[in-house]
Order: sequence, then structure tokens, then C-alpha cells
Amino acid sequence: MTPGFRNALTKWYAANRRSLPWRDRPSPYRVWISEIMLQQTRVETVREYFRRFLKRFPNIRALAESDEESVLQAWSGLGYYRRACMLHAAARRIIRLYGGRFPRDRASVLDLPGVGRYTTGAILSIAFNQPEPIVDGNVERVFARLHALGDSVKSKSGREFIWQVATEHVERGNAEGHKPGDLNQALMELGATVCKPEPECKACPVRRWCKAFKANDVDHYPVLPARAKPKPKRYLFAAVRDDAGRVLLVKRGRDDRSSLLPVGMWELPHAEWKGSMQKAWSMIETAHGLEVSITGKPASCRHAIMDYRLTLAVQPCTGVAANGTWFTLNEARNAAIASATRKLLDCLE
Ligand code: SF4
Repeated sequence: MTPGFRNALTKWYAANRRSLPWRDRPSPYRVWISEIMLQQTRVETVREYFRRFLKRFPNIRALAESDEESVLQAWSGLGYYRRACMLHAAARRIIRLYGGRFPRDRASVLDLPGVGRYTTGAILSIAFNQPEPIVDGNVERVFARLHALGDSVKSKSGREFIWQVATEHVERGNAEGHKPGDLNQALMELGATVCKPEPECKACPVRRWCKAFKANDVDHYPVLPARAKPKPKRYLFAAVRDDAGRVLLVKRGRDDRSSLLPVGMWELPHAEWKGSMQKAWSMIETAHGLEVSITGKPASCRHAIMDYRLTLAVQPCTGVAANGTWFTLNEARNAAIASATRKLLDCLE
């Protein structure tokens, strides 16, 4: 891409950039937290979580000195909970190895738990003004269309091509006097607001450099691999209440992969429902030492996790349990729970 392309793009960005909380005072900590939250999550959802998270953990030390349960609680509802555990582990590493100062070289940033090539590029370019590239889904789509890339953007050759043009973009732009953070964010902003899956080419500041637009073939790009159909799975949950109406929640150990729900979070006792309902119910009773009486009909809801489409059935009952902790419904909602558990609690009401 030419200097004219970068001038048009950055000029457009300066005039059209959205006001986002993490764009004010882009410290390494703020950029890091926002970029981890934005992975797989929409900007509008992240806004409020980011504000609350920063209030609760205003800096790296506060995050490192908290316990993992508190971090998961602040993350509750954002999904992909491994991100929160990694964030916490990385904060502790920054305190241990770098005295609480965010490292500023690529190898050290890349070595932090949960930080990949993309997040490294974001932190180094936006917070430290280094000419490091960023490739996310938006950048992928923009470059695939600008270059009319025939390879799938998920293939090895497609990915290599996109990273290469993203690197040239930020290195050449930096040499021309543009800020690396602006060069990268301008591309992402273009992908998020103009070159969307349904692009608004008429409003595009760089259409004269776009090969897909010139060929009148925008819909053809980016080339993507065929999406696998989501696989169905069914789980049965026990909504056990005690005499005070509290609900029983349990936690699975880190190595327990018997469920697709995220480990380390509070959840209703449950088992995969493969054969008869009775068999699934026995598994739950045995695992948690339940002695219960059924109090109503099961309710159910749908939930998507990764490549799975889940049916979640929840059976109300009363009784006692050998393990787990009792929560009022209000306490349960404010605990470290995943979105699926929140849906099930909604079902109970
Ligand atoms: Fe995207 Fe259309 Fe702009 Fe090309 S002209 S970069 S397809 S918005």
C-alpha cells in the first residue's frame, strides 16, 4: 500500500474514531485489559465490564494481589473464562519478574500468559508507540478485500500474507511519521465501522486502493473455510434448594473436563445427559452426595459454547448435599458464574 493510502486512512481515523474508554490514557495496563476483553466479545459489551474491572483492579499490583475467584467474579458474564485466569497469572508474573512495570520488548510481552501475537502488537504499538503489527478479524477482512486475496484468510498462506502486509503497513507508516498505534487502530476501526461483513464502500476513505471494490467483487472476500455445523450436546442440572430456599452451587477441579462449562466457576451440579434421564440424574446424585426430592417439572434453555449447541435441562428439587455451598439467588448471581449458569438461574425464577 502507498503513502497516499496511509494518509487517507489516518486522516479518516482522526476524524471518525469512536470514543472508547480504553482509548483515553492508553497505558499498557488499560490496553492489555481491553484487548483481552475484546477477544471474542463485542465492544458494546466490553465498555461496562472494562469500567467496572478498572475500578476494582486499578493497576497491575491490585490485580496481582487479588485472588483468582475475585477476578473470575469481575469477569462473570464475559465468557471465555480462561482469559481471566491468564490475566491474573500474567499480572503476578509482571510483579515477580519486572517489579510491576509492564515489559516493553516483544519477547517478554509474548511470554506473558494469555498474550499472543495480536495482543503483543496492540500493547507495543498503542501503549509504547512501537511499529509492531496487529492482525485481528477486522484487519484480516480489510486487507483481504484491499488485496483481493484469493487464499482463505485462515489458511497458512493467507495468514502469512496478511501478517506481512500488516507489518509493512505499520513499519512504512512509522517511517513516514505516522504513529504506529494510530496506523493499527485506524485499520481496526475501518473494519469495525465501514469495511464490515456487509461493507459500506460508499463511505470508505480508501476505496480507490481496494482491488475487490475495483473488480466489483467485494462479496467474494474474505475467503473463509466452510463453517462446521455446531454439534449438539445435552446436560441435566440439579437445582437443589434447602429449607431457606437457597440454591446449591459446586465447583469442579481444574482437571475435571466432564463438562463444557468453564472450570473454576460456581455452577449447578450437572452431568451430560446421554442416555436416560435417570442415568444422568444418578451420576449427579452420586458425584455430589445428594439426597433430594423432586419438586417440579424440569425447565430447559439453549446455550452455545465454542462449536457446540447445548440443551440445558434443569430439575428443581429440595434436599441436602455432601459437598457444595448454599447461596441465596442474589448471592449466586453476584458470584463467579458463567453465562450458562446465569441462564439456568433465570429459568428457576
Ligand atoms: Fe472495504 Fe469496500 Fe473499503 Fe474495499 S472499498 S476496503 S471492501 S469498505
